[in-house]
Amino acid sequence: MSVEEKLKWYFDVDRNKMPAKFLICKRIACDSEISDLEEKNLWEIHEKLSENFKKTWREIKEGELDLNEMEKPKVSYLDVKIELSKKILRNCRFCERRCGVDRRKERGFCGSKEKTYVSSYFLHFGEEPPLIPSGTIFFSGCNFKCVYCQNWEISQFPDNGFLTTAKDLSLIEENLRKSGARNINFVGGNPDQHLHTILESLKYLNVNVPVLWNNNAYSSEETMKILLDVVDIWLPDFKYGNDECAFRLSSVKNYTSFVQRNIKTMCENEDPLIIRHLVLPNHFECCTRRVLEWISKNCKNCLVNVMRQYRPEYLVLERIEKFKEISRVLTRDEIEKAYELASKLKLDFKEVS
Ligand code: SF4
Repeated sequence: MSVEEKLKWYFDVDRNKMPAKFLICKRIACDSEISDLEEKNLWEIHEKLSENFKKTWREIKEGELDLNEMEKPKVSYLDVKIELSKKILRNCRFCERRCGVDRRKERGFCGSKEKTYVSSYFLHFGEEPPLIPSGTIFFSGCNFKCVYCQNWEISQFPDNGFLTTAKDLSLIEENLRKSGARNINFVGGNPDQHLHTILESLKYLNVNVPVLWNNNAYSSEETMKILLDVVDIWLPDFKYGNDECAFRLSSVKNYTSFVQRNIKTMCENEDPLIIRHLVLPNHFECCTRRVLEWISKNCKNCLVNVMRQYRPEYLVLERIEKFKEISRVLTRDEIEKAYELASKLKLDFKEVS
């Protein structure tokens, strides 16, 4: 399958041949009043509307239905998603840390409270070729503590940057698209902990643009269910091939099962998907080999970016002895071994241009 075929939905939305999924969500009618409902009732409604969405999405893709001919409902599928995200925020389960804190009053592991801080936003020309220029929005805070984080000034300080509301965020998104962005790239830090603000921003956004979710793939099942009918293209990291390396280098538990589950969900939905794997020094057998082999067995139609730009940063520089094996850049041999394996497994990203 060619790159054009693998990313077809994304390209069609970018070229305005198809409406982004969030615009379709806004036309799926919810017949109930939702403001006083409990979370479990909202999930029941969400499940039914998800079926409606899938039918509508298929008809739109096949040219049998025109979004413009659909009425704008008083309460939409997107409103149900927004309401659900606000409930989850009160007992936070946006990611698999499942802190359970009420973020209106407390902070969980990621350190973010209810308000959303944006570190910066701009047209990014350093992403994968099909994505650029990418309208990238860097959200502050992260649920991982990667000792080599290259964005640690963003990821480890959740209140850095400027405070933004959903309405302000929608204006940023609109301006990025009007400035030539091929997508809105939600990243950080990590975007998951700002799901409530991002979803609400899409309610106010009325330009067509692909939604790109650029995260560490450690989302909770609830977050995945909410995102599934909103995201037009996924850009997850798949960093580690085992839980020990994940815990030692990113302070994260049960990494492989959650990340594999989420990436499988993206594949099963047949969504455009580019998986990023950052090659780490001395982690070929334990991480690179296992990650690439798993992808080749489980995700036939995705693209993979095998990244070679690792450099020691942040805590690795402060604690060289503790993190000795990753205290240098990659050798030529390590880079070649990673590319050779990717080629052998037919996962090479070089074909994307
Ligand atoms: S987003 Fe994740 S890390 Fe942050 S409070 Fe919620 S469950 Fe905890």
